[in-house]
Amino acid sequence: MASKEMVPSRLVIAIGGNATHPEGIRGSPGEQVKVAAELAEALLPLMLLDTELIITHGNGPVVGKILLRQAIARQRVEPMSLDICVAHTQGGIAYLLMQAFENVLRAADNPRHVICLLTQVEVDPDDPAFKNPSKPIGYFYSEEEAKGLTAELGWEMREDSGRGWRHVVPSPRPKHIADISLIEVVAKSGAVVIAGGGGGVPVVRSGKRQRHGVEAVIDKDQTSALMANVLHIDDLMILTAVPRVAIHYGKPQQQELERVTLAEIKKLHAEGHFPPGSMGPKIEAAIQFLDRGGRRVMIGRLQDVMPVLCGKAGTHIVAD
Ligand code: ADP
Ligand code: MG
Repeated sequence: MASKEMVPSRLVIAIGGNATHPEGIRGSPGEQVKVAAELAEALLPLMLLDTELIITHGNGPVVGKILLRQAIARQRVEPMSLDICVAHTQGGIAYLLMQAFENVLRAADNPRHVICLLTQVEVDPDDPAFKNPSKPIGYFYSEEEAKGLTAELGWEMREDSGRGWRHVVPSPRPKHIADISLIEVVAKSGAVVIAGGGGGVPVVRSGKRQRHGVEAVIDKDQTSALMANVLHIDDLMILTAVPRVAIHYGKPQQQELERVTLAEIKKLHAEGHFPPGSMGPKIEAAIQFLDRGGRRVMIGRLQDVMPVLCGKAGTHIVAD
């Protein structure tokens, strides 16, 4: 079990989109319930502690499927804009997570509440990301299929970490999380809070505090880092599909990182070890979080959540 000083009193956890909707599944309702139950089982030891928990999650695979479904049905059903699609993913994923988390808590005779807050996140309308789509979403395709989708639907496609070709969309930086004070209030009440799903629904603000949705998917790692900074939470945990961050990833000389300082990770990032669209955003989020006063970023596998928390697994990036 975790020793007392390693267990933070407040924690932001970012769960990868691939963890809530892994590549290998077709995505039937039954499969999604099962994945959520496994995720809940993995997080249960943490939820049983009295740590304040704010959980964010990715939505890449799910929002990609919604876009594909819309593309197929577009002659019969009017497609929704990307901000509305992101809102759909927040609701759908959080519904499955809330139910699964509460089910494991109740099975353990624990009365802790789990609450989802639909979250809008403001971005800069002039963010250069709108002119350079970089966030991969949805299925992996062969190069030939990717070319067909670009020709047929106008989707911008890009190769993703040697795993195949994916649809890429603009991913502007999060600037402000709407109602973040309410996220804090609910977390302090003891409930497990699910917020900022899919990086948040991307909106811009104009005129007299008017908000409007924009076509983008914000990186949930960036939103999680911003959330932790603004709420002065010292620890950020990013759960993904690899046990540790590596240098020379996917090459024979690959080497996993256990503990690195902020200065060291900045140097490795500058050397190009962390590609955009996958590990790059996590490392950039970690750097930003530590630069702005965060204490520790843990990156590891969902199945290893307690060992990661105790420093026995995962990559730990610490302030200088
Ligand atoms: P998530 O859904 O958790 O956000 P991503 O697919 O966006 O996951 O990013 C994590 C993935 O990045 C890993 O599963 C791995 O395939 C890939 N990756 C790319 N570079 C690295 C690296 N240097 N070290 C570890 N994993 C890397
Ligand atoms: Mg990601």
